[in-house]
Amino acid sequence: MGEEKKIPQLKSTKMLKEVMSKYFYELAEASKTRNKKIAWCTSVGPAELAISMGFLVFYPENHAAMMGANRTATEYIPVANAYGYSPDICSYLTSDIGAYLKRETPLKAYGMESVPKPDVLLYNTNQCRDVYDWFSFYSREFNVPIYGVNTPRNQPEVREDVVEVCARQMEEIVPHLEEISGQKFDIDRFREVLADSLKCSLLWEEVLNTAANVPAPATFFDHCIHMGPAVVLRGRKEAIEYYETLLQELKERVRNGIAAVPGEKHRFYWDGMPIWGKLRVLSNTFASLNSAVVVSSYCNSWVFSKFDPRDPFRSMARAYCSIFICQDDNFKERYIEEKVEKFKIDGIIFHDSKTCPNNTNCRYAMPQRLQERLEIPFLIINGDLNDLRCFSEEQTITNIEAFVEQLEE
Ligand code: SF4
Repeated sequence: MGEEKKIPQLKSTKMLKEVMSKYFYELAEASKTRNKKIAWCTSVGPAELAISMGFLVFYPENHAAMMGANRTATEYIPVANAYGYSPDICSYLTSDIGAYLKRETPLKAYGMESVPKPDVLLYNTNQCRDVYDWFSFYSREFNVPIYGVNTPRNQPEVREDVVEVCARQMEEIVPHLEEISGQKFDIDRFREVLADSLKCSLLWEEVLNTAANVPAPATFFDHCIHMGPAVVLRGRKEAIEYYETLLQELKERVRNGIAAVPGEKHRFYWDGMPIWGKLRVLSNTFASLNSAVVVSSYCNSWVFSKFDPRDPFRSMARAYCSIFICQDDNFKERYIEEKVEKFKIDGIIFHDSKTCPNNTNCRYAMPQRLQERLEIPFLIINGDLNDLRCFSEEQTITNIEAFVEQLEE
């Protein structure tokens, strides 16, 4: 492996920690005092609707990613396996349910004994069916209602009739939320929340796009850490304030030529899920090889530029039907091609994530098709988002080194 690099730290990380802590303490308070109704929502589910009706929103995927990042997931997954959830299905689901069964949570750091009990569960199957099964477990466990949007996947295009059906499904949730919250739905408040969510999205997109500069001021591994507010606080002012600050810092880095990877020589695209427990190892490995992973499909999944407060339901449905993961391979290839050009990419890293076939794109010859078309090489990394039993650190480092060496030749 190349020489270990001193990677410059982003100053905004301090504010990130404060913003995220405040959110978790707010959840802890609501969980204890029930001063606010709590909705659980899938990461690309209709959160804006719940926020506009006064719910505090909790995202189990974020909770599961925390357990992936602190590597406790590996202890919890077998508990869910023993309960009956296969080791082959989503390891977010198995980490989260396993932790629940074991009465463990990283939220203990914020004074919570367990995950905050939901008043309602909201899902969208735009990303996978696993989220529905996952939330159904909690619906049975807590005896609370579950409502959602059933979005088709593998779409060759976003059809308006599909958008219409999804918008109607969102509208149908409203009376249920009114009953649970005891609050009347206010379309103007909903428009406001959607406008804030749109602002957050556009700022997040700008943050990601700063990495198109050479050298890049931040990498995919930074993006994975700093995406927290775009996921759990979109629709709220705190997320907007945070990304304004982060964007300013990144622009300053660009102006001053500060590289996230000093001596950047190679630039890569990351496709698929992050390997949460190995972000640091991977970041260091690439940096030591003067390589920066500058763009990903994953972090761009929280850019919802199609939100339009003038047409809130339909535009929200359109935005949530348009995410990368629910499109077909032709769409995805065009998307990657565009990013490869814009971010001046030298090679593509595909993460073959054992338990997430939904967000793995290297199993149907996409890498080979892109290699032929774009004339850039690819590397497939075998691993998983949370289940580190599926990941060999040594093997992966060797493969990355060989890949970069081959590129240099
Ligand atoms: S998209 Fe993948 S990681 Fe996310 S919830 Fe679905 S199966 Fe799990």
